[in-house]
Amino acid sequence: MTNFDLYNPTNYIFGKGQIAKLSELIPKNSKILLAYGGGSIFKNGIYNQVKSALSGFEIVEFGGIEPNPRYETLMKAVEIIRNEKITFILAVGGGSVIDGVKFISGAVNFEGDAVEILKKRVLFKDVSKVIPFGTVLTLPATGSEMNSGAVVTIEATQEKLTLGGSALFPKFSICDPTVVASLPKRQLENGVVDAFTHVMEQYLTYPHDALLQDRFAESILQTLIEIGPDVVKNPSDYKLASNFMWCATMALNGLIQKGVPSDWATHMIGHELTALYEIDHARTLAIIGPNLYRVLFETKKEKLAQYGERVWNVEGNSIEEKAEKAIRKTVDFLHVMGMETKLSNYTSDYEKSADFIVNRFEERGWKAMGEKQNITLEKVREIVEMSY
Ligand code: NAP
Ligand code: FE
Repeated sequence: MTNFDLYNPTNYIFGKGQIAKLSELIPKNSKILLAYGGGSIFKNGIYNQVKSALSGFEIVEFGGIEPNPRYETLMKAVEIIRNEKITFILAVGGGSVIDGVKFISGAVNFEGDAVEILKKRVLFKDVSKVIPFGTVLTLPATGSEMNSGAVVTIEATQEKLTLGGSALFPKFSICDPTVVASLPKRQLENGVVDAFTHVMEQYLTYPHDALLQDRFAESILQTLIEIGPDVVKNPSDYKLASNFMWCATMALNGLIQKGVPSDWATHMIGHELTALYEIDHARTLAIIGPNLYRVLFETKKEKLAQYGERVWNVEGNSIEEKAEKAIRKTVDFLHVMGMETKLSNYTSDYEKSADFIVNRFEERGWKAMGEKQNITLEKVREIVEMSY
């Protein structure tokens, strides 16, 4: 096992009716920016629950944070915070609103051009320099409610880039599984597949000696496989919704990543497909993931075989046979979860993507990715072209 620091200060508050606790969690006399997305919270009653829990606080509202939040939109909130002397931000939404709020939190006191936060991947480590924030999660998927990372798109240059740092953990996150009931089928499918792929990024590398980490990861995968198709059919079932929500948080709150190598190239390539074609984040992962496993078969086959045996109960006479079966099982699962696994199912303009992505990565100096740093630009091209 490799050395690690495990630091996660987010106060995670889970269960039915927990939104009512908001007033205890936000410092008294705070002036709050209530940040949300395109308006789903008005239809499903979450806005009313939040507003009644916050009676007595001074609130300024900022709606309109879009899926795949835009830098340009977020900078408007930064201005409001500076002008209105806001002291606390409450993100009410899915990963996009929470990620957007992380950016806003860091950008308010950032000296210099805030676009550099994304272009230079600035790390926020000093909590006294960011605006504190909490979240009310409405969509289990990203784990953003209990991690310190975020992904933001610069509209002007069509770039989807990450930011983060230990100062950007939410102070608290309220995770009430009853919010799952109002999610559209497409977002339920996305949530399961994003969480599943987060685990795969941290698990599907090579055999190592962090035994407990493998079991943690496998248990999350197995639970998502068990409940994923059913929660899509029956999102108001509390047992399914609550297990789904907890899996999504556990998939990316840092715990399973400790002491082990991780890959993340599926996400890096997937982000470019969203930037180019506005394909939902999870759907880009379903396009890229299996092809990445195929192209990296030689380095990943031992772990693929372990995953196949332990998670899917596959049998076979060789590592290769079990590994191949594991990839097939994964693709079948993605299809059951409503994913298309070919880029051409989303756009007829797919042929430009390999050049675009390889050029982008080259400009940024991303010449070696993955747990073994062996995903070269040629490999990236192969993965993307295999995905057409
Ligand atoms: P999202 O983009 O936050 O939301 C997708 C859609 O679902 C929005 O239209 C939203 O509507 C709607 N929605 C949310 N909650 C709802 C509810 N309870 N009922 C009905 N509709 C609801 O989706 P996401 O998958 O959570 O986030 C995706 C983003 O997170 C991507 O940008 C991705 O790159 C990023 N990401 C971040 C991390 C991380 O660790 N930080 C990890 C993976 C991915 P409204 O806008 O109207 O609310
Ligand atoms: Fe993701």
